[in-house]
Amino acid sequence: MQRIVLASRPDGEPTDDNFRLETVDLPQPGEGEVLVKSHYMSLDPYMRGRMDDAKSYAAPVPIGGTMEAGAVGEVIASNSPHFKPGDFAFGMLGWASHGCLPAKELRKLDPAQGPITAALGVLGMPGFTGWHGLTAYGRPEAGETLVVAAATGPVGSMVGQLAKLAGLRVVGIAGGADKCKLATETFGFDACLDHRAYADAKSLRKDLAEACPKGIDIYFENVGGKVLEAVLPLMNPHGRIPICGMIAWYNAGGLGAGASDVALTGPNIWRNILVKFLSVNGFIISNHFDRYPEFLKEVAPKVASGEIRFLEDIATGLENAPEAFRSLLKGGNTGKQIVKLI
Ligand code: NDP
Repeated sequence: MQRIVLASRPDGEPTDDNFRLETVDLPQPGEGEVLVKSHYMSLDPYMRGRMDDAKSYAAPVPIGGTMEAGAVGEVIASNSPHFKPGDFAFGMLGWASHGCLPAKELRKLDPAQGPITAALGVLGMPGFTGWHGLTAYGRPEAGETLVVAAATGPVGSMVGQLAKLAGLRVVGIAGGADKCKLATETFGFDACLDHRAYADAKSLRKDLAEACPKGIDIYFENVGGKVLEAVLPLMNPHGRIPICGMIAWYNAGGLGAGASDVALTGPNIWRNILVKFLSVNGFIISNHFDRYPEFLKEVAPKVASGEIRFLEDIATGLENAPEAFRSLLKGGNTGKQIVKLI
């Protein structure tokens, strides 16, 4: 089998040298374990954080360790009564052609119910993240205005579509004219601004204010950086900010050196939260999987009916995963980034 391990820790943007493709023996499932041949694996922004040796909500990938990833594939050997060869399953199988996990860490999939790749995006962790963040912390009300960046990605597109269904005005922010067109035409956003077209937060804020004539009630935070700076002064009193991610700063090492470049200073941020009575909620979705069945019950039928749409960007070959991952961090993906492994 093949796997990609973390060869060294990146300093800023990851490079090819940070990854190593290895060929190793196929693991044999032990008692209660299941061996899966992965068909598709997910690439997600959180993986950048796992490459740093920094204190966070999850342990870093050790040097020489297999890069973490969710994947879907076919069971090829099983020592569990819950799985048999030929079953399809999702699990944290890593950047690898195969993975061996205890049965309780795998979720069975029914390929007859739709493409198995959906378990990595729209009906998997990212889609669930958008749904949970919006419903638990965004608390949308019809007539309000929501802004979300990374608007065509699996989190942003879920947030925007759910907010539209709930009767909100939805303004997206995305990288490039093509993605903005997708946000409005495919996902039904009311407007979308191209953050790459603005030299600074001030000019972005001016157009955002025009796109949000009644101010912003919910800012679903996916990116930080220039977008956050543009949005914060436009928040309405009692606005809500679910903090889901801050990808604009991931290559700066989370709270590392690059964070000092942030033009919005701490006192300013606090002042905005104070004087606008904002509710700001950080969350990590792995703590909330008790709500996953509720999400599937509500959203899976909407995906099946086409009421909620999704885009996938599928790269081919495990060896091309590092390049696809680097591209994802810079917005090179259009829709959920997946790697096809067979
Ligand atoms: P996407 O597939 O949308 O990919 C990331 C996108 O971020 C890129 O395509 C790009 O979109 C955008 N981006 C990158 N750099 C910048 C920048 N400097 N400024 C503005 N936008 C930028 O990712 P996901 O939908 O999977 O994830 C979205 C966010 O949600 C991420 O921050 C992620 O870490 C977070 N997340 C958090 C979870 C949690 O538990 N809290 C769980 C899952 C995701 P574009 O080209 O449109 O700018």
